[in-house]
Amino acid sequence: SLSDKLQNTFKHLKGKGVLTEKDIDAAMREVKLALLEADVNFKVVKEFVADVKAKCLGEEVMKSLTPAQQVIKIVDQQLTELMGGENVKLSYSPTGFTTIMMAGLQGTGKTTTCGKLANYLKESGKKPMLAACDVYRPAAIDQLEVVGKACGTPVYTDRGCQDPVKIANDARAEAERKGYNVLIIDTAGRLQIDEELMQELQNIKEKVKPHQILLVVDALTGQDAVNAAKGFNEKLDVDGIIMTKMDGDARGGAALSARKVTGKPILFLGTGEKYNALEAFHPDRMASRILGMGDLLSLIENAERDYDEAKAEKQLERLKKNQFTLEDFLEQMGEVKRMGGIGKILEMMPGVSSRQMQNVNLDESEKEFRQYEAIIYSMTKEERQDPSILNASRRKRIAAGCGLPVSRINTLIKRYEETKKMLKQFSRPGAMKKNRMLRG
Ligand code: GDP
Ligand code: MG
Repeated sequence: SLSDKLQNTFKHLKGKGVLTEKDIDAAMREVKLALLEADVNFKVVKEFVADVKAKCLGEEVMKSLTPAQQVIKIVDQQLTELMGGENVKLSYSPTGFTTIMMAGLQGTGKTTTCGKLANYLKESGKKPMLAACDVYRPAAIDQLEVVGKACGTPVYTDRGCQDPVKIANDARAEAERKGYNVLIIDTAGRLQIDEELMQELQNIKEKVKPHQILLVVDALTGQDAVNAAKGFNEKLDVDGIIMTKMDGDARGGAALSARKVTGKPILFLGTGEKYNALEAFHPDRMASRILGMGDLLSLIENAERDYDEAKAEKQLERLKKNQFTLEDFLEQMGEVKRMGGIGKILEMMPGVSSRQMQNVNLDESEKEFRQYEAIIYSMTKEERQDPSILNASRRKRIAAGCGLPVSRINTLIKRYEETKKMLKQFSRPGAMKKNRMLRG
């Protein structure tokens, strides 16, 4: 992967100590190849490498005691810049009612992303409504209704109407009447940009005057995605980009080039088919992720969002009363799983490369989880609630019950005791949450 390649390049540099211009040149050639292979736009790569090289040859870097680290820092900064520097948020209309129009080729994920956005908006305290303006396929309306139901968001449809402008305006009137404050317009796409599609979208833009036009771009299609984004933007002057399918084996090129080529910011990443698989896009975190430095901040944010506050409070209460049981421990492990599993967490940890991810470690930790589960399920209620009664004969019985050696049970109890001790050090649920994560 891009991340592996860049890490190799830097490992090589790090082994060098003092760097010469030749070393920098060689490293930049590798960076260039890695980016091109990741399907980053050629012009973007050329400019990027030239910028990085110029900065690297600056006095401070070459004379620094840690030139390799300086080079990595520069690449990190330039990557961040390339992707826009700062996180750009979705903008709401000052009128109090925001209309968002989706645009993009067919299959990029517009309809799915409507649901994700509705979810996101609700979490942000907004009241969203969806409008079905893909009028060519009846199935498209059905699909949006399924999405709306899954996200608990109403969908405005008018199956007899072939005019997306009318549907959008009627939907807006209804939304305002019923007290909603954001309308998300799902539109039709084509397999390729064509005049008719553009005309229709421009027409909606002109007559409905959406506050935000969001372009949905499929990261898996690489350069094509960037070209499509450019085309759409030239006709529609969009406000931002949502890059979908970042969970797949996208080579990263689309995310890296999109901003530079269109001049428009990426607002969100789509990272899965589920309706909570939408992440705010942070260029700096993405750069670190590409460079293999991990993405702890995103991880913690996800954890915070997914972690059940109420459960945390309850566990904390129990802890205070010294009642943190093995059942609570199991529940905690379940939480980790719910947040995407230990794999997802490892993936975002600094220093864990995708190569490392591929080897047995991952399977091992999942296996360990499953074993702990099996052990705890083999205990009596009494034992789960008060592990201190687990003497040798009980441990032997449990081992026989779950088909694992007694040593595994001892390890589990040790892990439980450690967790309990660690949790005790935190008095606020907020602190507990974060530190729970770092235990990994
Ligand atoms: P539309 O034609 O632009 O409306 O695209 P759809 O919303 O119908 O999505 C097309 C396909 O892409 C569906 O199978 C979605 O489940 C899938 N999809 C959308 N977003 C993502 C994403 O972020 N990750 C993955 N893996 N699949 C996605
Ligand atoms: Mg659709």
